[in-house]
Amino acid sequence: MPELLWIRNDLRTEDNNALSSALEHSEDGVVALFICTPGSWTSDDWGSPRVTLLLESLRVYQASLEKLNIPLLVRTVGTYQDAAAVLEEVATEYGCRGVHAGLEFGLHEQSRDRNAAARLAVAGIPLHLHSDQVVIPPDDVRTKTGTNFKVFTPFRNAWNEELRRIGFPPAGTLTPAKPLDVESDRVPESLEGFPRWDGISAWTPGHQEAARRLREFMSGPIDSYHVDRNRPDTNGTSSLSPYFAVGAISPVTCLRPLVEQHGMDPATWPAGPSTWQSEIVWREFYRYVMHHNPRVSMRRPMQEWTEHLEWRDDEAGFTAWCEGRTGIEIVDAGMRQLAESGWMHNRVRMITAMFLTKNLLVDWRHGERFFARHLVDYDFPSNNGGWQWAASTGTDAAPYFRIFNPQRQADLFDPDRVYCDRWNPDFNPMITPPIVNLVETRRRAIEVFKHARTATT
Ligand SMILES: Cc1cc2nc3c(=O)[nH]c(=O)nc-3n(C[C@H](O)[C@H](O)[C@H](O)COP(=O)(O)OP(=O)(O)OC[C@H]3O[C@@H](n4cnc5c(N)ncnc54)[C@H](O)[C@@H]3O)c2cc1C
Repeated sequence: MPELLWIRNDLRTEDNNALSSALEHSEDGVVALFICTPGSWTSDDWGSPRVTLLLESLRVYQASLEKLNIPLLVRTVGTYQDAAAVLEEVATEYGCRGVHAGLEFGLHEQSRDRNAAARLAVAGIPLHLHSDQVVIPPDDVRTKTGTNFKVFTPFRNAWNEELRRIGFPPAGTLTPAKPLDVESDRVPESLEGFPRWDGISAWTPGHQEAARRLREFMSGPIDSYHVDRNRPDTNGTSSLSPYFAVGAISPVTCLRPLVEQHGMDPATWPAGPSTWQSEIVWREFYRYVMHHNPRVSMRRPMQEWTEHLEWRDDEAGFTAWCEGRTGIEIVDAGMRQLAESGWMHNRVRMITAMFLTKNLLVDWRHGERFFARHLVDYDFPSNNGGWQWAASTGTDAAPYFRIFNPQRQADLFDPDRVYCDRWNPDFNPMITPPIVNLVETRRRAIEVFKHARTATT
């Protein structure tokens, strides 16, 4: 009886526990299955950039699986609700003994997996879920009193301590499965509702490309990451986020060379590697927050008092922001970078998000959704976490009275306007004057937040 590998978001052969477990148990071969769920992706606001990257990465992964004698079946259904039935159908059709998949932490994903496990159980087939998205699963990081962390720094300290306790997972080797007489399906180029995105040409898909980018980053830029990471005018970051988003690279693979070189305690590492490790842990923190707080998956703010904020209904302002026509040079540069490349530098994501939620006082969920539809690296927990940070509604967010001045941010982080000139070369404040007065709108935002805060205490 073969094993079934249910692929969702871990499109790589390295450090993939679901894959290695399927291979280890596979006396009679392994069949892989990917279920496209465009209905769920639409309701979760995925856009063509993210779906195109997913399909292209799946095609690359298919070639690697075939080298391991694993044929890939591809099915398309409507939503996550329908996935369980197809999974059971395939598992019984191929007489599978067990199903292996990587753990996902969103509310909808977990409910899909519960349905799948229940259906498979009736057929006598166990579903084995493996931790593949994070280095340390969210249930394994707790305060000394057993509660959940709400603030990043103590979370990171406990995370580091837990890593020292369990030790770093060694790299494994994969032995090909027994060949099966099953033909792989063709991975679709696009899906209804998600036309192929041309910008994919700038993002070579696949786990080999992710490994190449990691090697390049480790060979130099990581040493000055603590300084360069805030500079959109340099290539100082790894640009690995799209590869993380589809699981073409694992955080374990990223941290292993650093642990081997600098030891088990990131607090003692040089500043560049230590700061980069901290960003990887931020990614885990936002998954942790989502896992322990179902309200996040429901798109509700983490700080309950911010439910009472009076957001402005400013359609014209929101449209100008989306189209990069606010007349604020770095905000427009960022929004144009997003439209053209499907990506935006982290510092500029913070600036554009804060401008929308504070200076325009537009509900963060509008911006969150717009980013989701346009980012090639769209990742629900990181995007939600980033937006709730900027909007001061999150668990460890920017205080509401500390509002970036985008022009000052540009002076600090893009002093020669290299970034702005690249993405917003026609900037002319005479033709496109700022749509808001930054000083007055800052004051207004503080008043509105203060009012919501005092109204609930
Ligand atoms: C409003 C807003 C929205 C965001 N939306 C997303 C999103 O949809 N998908 C996404 O992957 N990231 C998102 N981020 C986080 C961050 O901007 C990107 O991860 C980062 O810009 C990716 O660039 P890089 O790969 O070069 O990162 P590096 O600086 O090289 O960092 C390495 C990795 O660490 C993780 N990371 C870095 N910074 C953060 C962070 N602040 N939060 C969580 N993880 C982080 C990413 O996986 C990243 O690839 C968002 C941030 C903000 C402020």
